[in-house]
Formats: sequence, C-alpha cells, structure tokens
Amino acid sequence: MSEQSAARIPRYAAALDFEALWDEFPPADVYFETAYRRSADEIRQIQNQRFLVQMARAWQVPFYKRYWSAAGMLAGDIRSLDDLERIPPFSVHDLRDSLQQEPFWADYIGIDPESDEPLPLIVQTSGGTTGLPRPMLFTPRDREVMNILTGRRLYMQGVRPFDLVQVSLSMGLTNGGVLAREGIWKYTGAVPVMTGSGAQTPTRRQIELLQAWNAKFLIGFPAYLRHMALVSRDELGLDPRTLSVKALIVHLGLEDRSSLEKLWGADVYDTYGCNECGSMASECSHKSGMHLFEDAFVMEVNDPDTLQPKPPGERGVIFITTLFKHAAPMIRYNMNDITSWAVGSCSCGTQQRSITKIYGRSDSMVKLRGVNVFPEAVGAVISANPRCNGEYVCVLEGAPGGAEDMTVIVESSDASVASLELAKDLATRLKEAMGVKLAVQIVGAGELDATTGLSRTSKLKRLIDRRPARA
Ligand SMILES: [Zn+2]
Repeated sequence: MSEQSAARIPRYAAALDFEALWDEFPPADVYFETAYRRSADEIRQIQNQRFLVQMARAWQVPFYKRYWSAAGMLAGDIRSLDDLERIPPFSVHDLRDSLQQEPFWADYIGIDPESDEPLPLIVQTSGGTTGLPRPMLFTPRDREVMNILTGRRLYMQGVRPFDLVQVSLSMGLTNGGVLAREGIWKYTGAVPVMTGSGAQTPTRRQIELLQAWNAKFLIGFPAYLRHMALVSRDELGLDPRTLSVKALIVHLGLEDRSSLEKLWGADVYDTYGCNECGSMASECSHKSGMHLFEDAFVMEVNDPDTLQPKPPGERGVIFITTLFKHAAPMIRYNMNDITSWAVGSCSCGTQQRSITKIYGRSDSMVKLRGVNVFPEAVGAVISANPRCNGEYVCVLEGAPGGAEDMTVIVESSDASVASLELAKDLATRLKEAMGVKLAVQIVGAGELDATTGLSRTSKLKRLIDRRPARA
C-alpha cells in the first residue's frame, strides 16, 4: 500500500462528541429552559472563557498571526474580553487579500491539507457579486454549532416536530438554503421542504406545493415571498391568507413588515446571520428586537469612524467575534451591516442582548448631496404603498459638473394605477423619509425582473451605479 492510502478516512459521526457539544451549546428546547435565562454576568463569564479559547486558536491561524503581528500585537496582550477593543478589526477586504494568494485554502481558514489530520469539511461561499465567491470551510463542530443555533431560532419562532418548513433559498454555494435544511432536519424535528429559488422551482409550483402539503412556515427573502403572494393572489386567484402559512422567517432588513403580514395573513419574523457565522440573532414571537446567541458570539455595535461602541438606540456598524469556530475563527470581523442595540428588555424574559434591525450595509450606502441613502430604506417606503408591488431599483447617475442624482424605478401593482400620481406621491414620501429629493419613475409589474433578477436569484440587485468611474 502506498503511503497516501494509509491516511485514515475521517468519519463525520466519529469526529465529534455530540453529548459534550450539546452540554456546551444546548439545542432547543433545552436551551430555552437553561442558557436563555442566564443573567448578564453569567453570560459574560461564559463568553470570557470561550473567547480565550477562541483567541488561542486564532493565533494558530496564519491570517491572524500575520495581521496581528504587523499591528504589533503579542499573544499575551489579550487577557480577557475586556481587552477586545485592543484587537484590530478586519473586513471582507482583508479576506479578499488573503484569497489573492490562495483562492481556496486561504490563510484565514487555518487548515493545511499538506500537514493536518484529515477531517470532514464542508464549504459554502459568499454570493460572489464581485469576483469569485469567498470560500468558508466548516469542521464538524463548527457546523453542528451553527445547526444548533439555526434550530434554536426556528424553535423561538414556533417551529415544532412534524411541521413542514418550506424553504425558498437556493441550495447552492451560498449557506442560506443548505444551513436551513441542516438546522431544521437535525435540531427541530420539523421537515424541511427545499423548493429553492424561483429558478429551481417555478413560483407557481411553490404555491401549488404550499396548497397541497400545508407547510406552516416559509423561509425566504422578503422580496421573493412578497412576489410569491402576489402571484398567488393575482395570477392564480388564490388568496395567500387562505393557505396554511402561520409565519414567514426572513432577513427583514428595512422591508415593510406589516404589508407582508397582511398579504399572507401570517406573522413575519426577522433574523440575522451571515455565510461566515450562520444564525447570529433572531426575533422571538414578541418581535421586539433580535436576540443574540451570546454563548456563541460577541457582538459590538461601533461608530464606523471612531470605532467607539454605540449606546443602545444609536446606529453603528456590527463587529462580530465567534466563540466556537475552529476553521476560520472570526475575531472582530467588520460585517458592514448597520444596526442599533434594542432599548429595554423583551417580555420573553431573556437576558441576551438584542439588536433592533439591519438598516442596510455601510458599503451599499450612497452619499447623495450630503445625505446617507440606503437603497433598502427606499424599498421600505415603496413596499408600504399598496399601489406598488414592492419591486424597485435605484439608479445612481453622475451629472456633468459633479452633481449626482438618483432615480427610483418602481413597479406598480397593476395596470389601473395612475402612474403620474403615484410617482408624485412616492417622491413626496421619499423626500420626507430620506431628507433628499429622488426622482421616481413608474413601470408595469414584472418589467424590472431582468434588472433585479427577481425570478432567477434570491439576492436582488437594487442599486445600479451609472456614475462615471473616478480617475
Ligand atoms: Zn423575546
């Protein structure tokens, strides 16, 4: 036998002590009787222990060794969570730099196939809207913790054994659909129905399945679930409120919750996660902020310029630190997402800190005549108007002389809507909401599909930047 064939094939179930893991990160329903009710002091103590273990692991990862050493940091400098703010944060740009050197086994992963013992790995990626998607590898433990967290958030939102959960997220390179399937299947007792995006299962077929199989929960992007309801109501003549759906589980962002709830006659719950870390925070049935899973993450909400922490109620950018990852631990990862800490506590009684909502991405923010404009905030105004179907795209143009203008192209809900009047009303509402004047143009339903990618992809294009490139 050659030397190579002597290497052991790793087995998933043998790679983990599941009982020990479940003690450390209790799955639902145990979590809600135990860790969910910890006091803030107990939470901090557990975070501190796990943070020090995570730091020791991070020092073994070449990316951090390189990055931190260049910043003059030594291994002994960080003695507790109180020192967190002394660690230099990093962002997606640093991950991209690492990928320039090595497009798959990048040095932030911290696993070397040349020298490490084999272990079962899985890869998911970012959306890859700019360049090749970013790979993120997960060990069995990394993955199981993420699955447990997914199970917890769905339990919090009412998912129970034998429920059907229809998931309209794609089962491809990105984590969303795959992670939902694993979490539902392994940690809720419910049955995932993986319809995928409209490109994988046509929207009409998704509705037929809902009608025939009676799924209680729908997971997907809010824009797509809104589209699905309108196809049901306007094209199939089937009122979505008569279907079996009790709740929609989405990354809500600034989309209008109440209009989506009215369309479906169902609750809409907000949730927050990312490809690198999985589910980080989620609303409970009280809908009063997304509760963070603080045994798995330390979150900061900081001023994007000074990096100083923001008090509850004030908006800042999210930095995340993981407390469980072996492959690619994330230490002060600047998520570029804008949020604020929720003020006050939730009636469910948890002591975990909560964030209000995601107000947009700091990198999709457009500065227009001195005012910060998020395309997502434009979308919120549009989806609140019943004469629109929620579809829109913002076009940013540079006028000669350096002035910039944004035109919002909006689909009307049906052909009977008076376009000029609607355009005028929306322009007024947008001016009130944004504090800056935007031009509005109305088009018919479905006309923006090709631009936004509504029927093909779950990640929609909402901003087209036609400004001339700067020299
Ligand atoms: Zn709550």
